[in-house]
Amino acid sequence: MAQTVFAPWNDPQAKPLIQFKNVTKRFGDFTAIDNLSQDIYEREFFALLGPSGCGKTTMMRMLAGFENPTEGQILIAGQDMAGVPPNERAVNMMFQSYALFPHLTVWDNIAFGLKRMNMPKDQLNARVEDMLRLTRLTKFAKRKPHQISGGQRQRVALARSLARAPKLLLLDEPLGALDKKLREETQFELMDIQEKTGTTFVIVTHDQEEAMTVASRVAVMDEGRIMQVATPANIYEEPNSVYVADFIGDVNIIQGKAHKTSADGYDIAWAEGHEPFHAKTSIQLDEGQNAFIAIRPEKISVSPDKPEGAVNAIKGQIVDIAYLGNVSTYHVRIPGGLVIKAQAANTRRLSRRAFTWEDEVWLSWTLTGGSVLSE
Ligand code: ATP
Repeated sequence: MAQTVFAPWNDPQAKPLIQFKNVTKRFGDFTAIDNLSQDIYEREFFALLGPSGCGKTTMMRMLAGFENPTEGQILIAGQDMAGVPPNERAVNMMFQSYALFPHLTVWDNIAFGLKRMNMPKDQLNARVEDMLRLTRLTKFAKRKPHQISGGQRQRVALARSLARAPKLLLLDEPLGALDKKLREETQFELMDIQEKTGTTFVIVTHDQEEAMTVASRVAVMDEGRIMQVATPANIYEEPNSVYVADFIGDVNIIQGKAHKTSADGYDIAWAEGHEPFHAKTSIQLDEGQNAFIAIRPEKISVSPDKPEGAVNAIKGQIVDIAYLGNVSTYHVRIPGGLVIKAQAANTRRLSRRAFTWEDEVWLSWTLTGGSVLSE
């Protein structure tokens, strides 16, 4: 059986779990969220990504009910949340600092919320045991928070947030306190738990790699607005703006003037006396319009001689090399002074000549190697 791709946002029949409808949030005369509309679907792992102060936490706090929109509506499962207090929403929020109760055991920390809702004892016990199994904490159940590791504490907080089986779990920088290795492991655990429980997760993170790893869709925000929402691959391969291209990963941005050459082909004249770069795009640009080509470093080949038949090729000089183990990034100055980053895998083949500082090299990329952007 063919595996069906999870993409409810492409299904016109799918009903969103969360709907932001023209939501604006002002603090005094400062606009933190600016007329934002966005649907999020059940079972999604939706990541909010953006620079500090762009409004990520404000969106989460409005979902949880700690803040009210100044204008617009937020619906959860079709119900308008206006006036619905946090404890009456099928939402749980795991905060940046997921304070556990230090005097309670892991077991009691997880049981805490369930006791408060007066869940019958046998049901409560079973639920806590389930959560312990899910987060692989069964053998730590009797320990106190200071007797377990940072990653384990993080899992306790997650178990506690999931215990009441919220429809929606909001995670604000949930892995912020973990070191890189543990953080990466925990990302996979989060994905696994999300899949097993079928809970919808909305996560806020500063870390773009994290967002790209865990999310079904990523929303890139800037100043209270969503600039682009797409799958991680689309955000990376088909950014819709210079802002998004620049925010996600490493990218070379070359500015020029557009000249249409075919239905979907453009020449981008980037420097006088040099052949324009050629690119394919579905966007429409006016003749002579200012445009940009965004090219990821790994899409650019570095070679000692001009590659035969290359669609885009330009000669330059290596000014810097960053050795990153499995790959090296070459910084190559091209005519006009622009420095282009090109990434090449380091193979062990001795026959392959390594480049060094001040070498003259050719950079080349294909017709679809770069994205054309209008602004
Ligand atoms: P970070 O990544 O740094 O946590 P963020 O994207 O989560 O940032 P928010 O916390 O949502 O940002 O804040 C968005 C903007 O709204 C910021 O400029 C912040 O200063 C402002 N803001 C947030 N809460 C309030 C408040 N209660 N009163 C006034 N301004 C606020």
